[in-house]
Amino acid sequence: MIDTAHQALKKYFGYDQFRKGQDQIISRLLEHKDTVGIMPTGGGKSLCYQIPALLFPGVTLVISPLISLMKDQVDALANAGIAATYINSSLTFEEGKERLASASKGAYKLVYIAPERLEVPDFIRTLERMNVSLVAIDEAHCISQWGHDFRPSYRAIPSLLARFTDKPAVAALTATATPKVTMDICQLLDIDMQGVVVTGFARDNLHFQVIRDQDEDTFLLDYLKKNQDQPGIVYAATRKEVDRLYDRLSRKGLAVGRYHAGLSEQERASSQEAFLYDDLTVLVATNAFGMGINKSNVRFVVHYNMPRTIEAYYQEAGRAGRDGDRSDCILLFSPQDIRLQKFFIDQSEMDDGLKQAEYHKLDQMIGYCHTEMCLQSYILRYFGENAPEGCGHCGNCLDTRDKMDVTIDAQKVLSCVKRMRERYGKTMVTKVLAGAADQKILSFHLNRLPTYGIMKAQTQKNINAFIDFLTAEQYLEQQGGAYPTLALSARSVAVLKGEEKVFKKGRIQAERLSVDDALFEVLKKVRKDFAQKEFVPPYIIFSDQSLREMSARLPAT
Ligand code: ADP
Ligand code: MG
Ligand code: ZN
Repeated sequence: MIDTAHQALKKYFGYDQFRKGQDQIISRLLEHKDTVGIMPTGGGKSLCYQIPALLFPGVTLVISPLISLMKDQVDALANAGIAATYINSSLTFEEGKERLASASKGAYKLVYIAPERLEVPDFIRTLERMNVSLVAIDEAHCISQWGHDFRPSYRAIPSLLARFTDKPAVAALTATATPKVTMDICQLLDIDMQGVVVTGFARDNLHFQVIRDQDEDTFLLDYLKKNQDQPGIVYAATRKEVDRLYDRLSRKGLAVGRYHAGLSEQERASSQEAFLYDDLTVLVATNAFGMGINKSNVRFVVHYNMPRTIEAYYQEAGRAGRDGDRSDCILLFSPQDIRLQKFFIDQSEMDDGLKQAEYHKLDQMIGYCHTEMCLQSYILRYFGENAPEGCGHCGNCLDTRDKMDVTIDAQKVLSCVKRMRERYGKTMVTKVLAGAADQKILSFHLNRLPTYGIMKAQTQKNINAFIDFLTAEQYLEQQGGAYPTLALSARSVAVLKGEEKVFKKGRIQAERLSVDDALFEVLKKVRKDFAQKEFVPPYIIFSDQSLREMSARLPAT
C-alpha cells in the first residue's frame, strides 16, 4: 500500500522520499488505524493526511485553527491539481453553504474547516451524512488544556467523530510532545497510546543560543545589520514592545514589518504577505504570528523576550530553517521576562491547578536560559527524548571558556537556603546573601542568620543569576507555584558535604563595579549615543579631571 503513497508523493508533491515518521503515520492511516503524529514544526505534518486523503475514496476533513493557513494550503493543493476547499468565517453565509453542498456531492478530496463550525448543529448534520474517510486534526494540542494554545471549540471534535455511522480514520497532528498533552489528546480522541508516532525532535540545522548579559537592543541591531537580506522573525512578548522595536529598527533604516493582534486585519494580512513573498525581510511580531505559516527560508528567529514555556519556544523557534538549511534560534534573556510571564499567568483565567502547571513550565524555560548543558539536548530532554551529549553547534557547545570551580559559592547559596529552612523564594535568599537590609529582612530577623551577607561582594543581580544557574543545573529546586520557595535537591546535599564539585563557565559573577568603573560604563554609553546622533539629555556632568582620566581609558573610535 505504501507504494501507492510513494507514487502520490512524487506525482503530486514532487518529492522522492518520505521524511522521518511520515511513512509510518501514512501507512497506519491507510489501514484505518487512528494515529497521533508528533513531529517538530516544519517536519512535514500536512503530507501525513494529504497523501491518505488522495488515496481514500471519500473526503478528508481537516480541522485547523488558522484561517490564513487554510487558504494557502488550499491554493497549494489546487496548484498540485488536487480538489480542495475551505469553509470558515472569511466566507459569506451563501459561499459557505455552496461549498458545503459541493462537498457533500464529493467535489473535493479535502475540506478544511475551522473548529468553530463544529459548534453549529446544522453544519454537523451535513457533515455526518457525508462520505468522510479521514478526519485530520491539525495543531491537535489545541484540544488539551495542558497545551499552550487551548481552543474550547476543539472539544466538539469527539462528538463529531461519534456521529459517523462509518467511523472515519483519525489523524491528530501536533508539534507539542509533552507526555501530558499527548495523553490528553489520546484520551479525548479515544486513541490508543500505541497509536502515537513520535519522530525525532532534533533539528540539526538549528543553532540555538541564549544571550544573557548584553543590552538587547544593541545585540539585536548588530545582529540584524550583520544578517541583512536574510529573512527572519523577531518575537517580542507584548504589542507595545513590538511597536517600540518596529519604530526603533525602522529609524535605523532596517526594512522591518510588524505583526500583532492589535493591528487591523488588513495591516496584518499585508505584513504577512510581504514577509511570505520576501518583499520584507524581517518581521517583528508577537506570538500571534506564525502558527501554520509555511515559509521555508526563515534564516533566524530571535526572541527578544523569553516565552513562557519550552513548547512555545520550540514551536516558534522551529519556524526557522524549514528548508533544512542552517538557521539561528536566539533567545535574548533578561530577568524582567520572568516577571512579565508570571504576570501573564497570574492575570489568566486558568484555575489554580493549571496555574501551578504553568509555573512549573516557566521554571523549565528559565532553566533553559541558565543552563550550561547543550541547548538542543536540554530541549529534547524536556520532550522526553534521549538526547546525545551535545549537538556541537549551539551557543553552549561552542562556549569554549574554561570551567571554573564555583563550589564554594554554591555552598554559600545552598547553606543559606538550608539556614532559611527552605521556606523562602529566590528574592529573599538573594537579599540575605547580599546582606540587604530592607524591611522584610529585618522583620523576619533574617539578618541574624550566619549566612547573612556572605556574598556581599556580589550584586544582587549576579547572585540571582547564579541561583538560576544552580536551579537549571538541578543543584536547587523551585517548589510551589506563584511564589515558589527554593529547596535543596539530592545534588545539593552532595555539594554541601563536599562530595560533588560545581563548575561554571567563564567569569563566575562580575564583582560589584567600582565607582570609577561604573562612571566609565556611563561615559562609554554616552559617547556611543552621541556617535549615533541620538538625543542625550544632559543629566550627567563629569568633572574635568574625571573626564581626562576616563578619556585616557577609552579606546579611540
Ligand atoms: P509542519 O506542519 O509539520 O510544520 P509542513 O507540513 O508545513 O510542516 O511542511 C514543512 C515543509 O516541508 C513544507 O515546505 C513541505 O512541502 C516540506 N516537506 C514535507 N514533506 C516533505 C518530504 N517528504 N520531502 C521534502 N519536503 C517535504
Ligand atoms: Mg502544520
Ligand atoms: Zn549543543
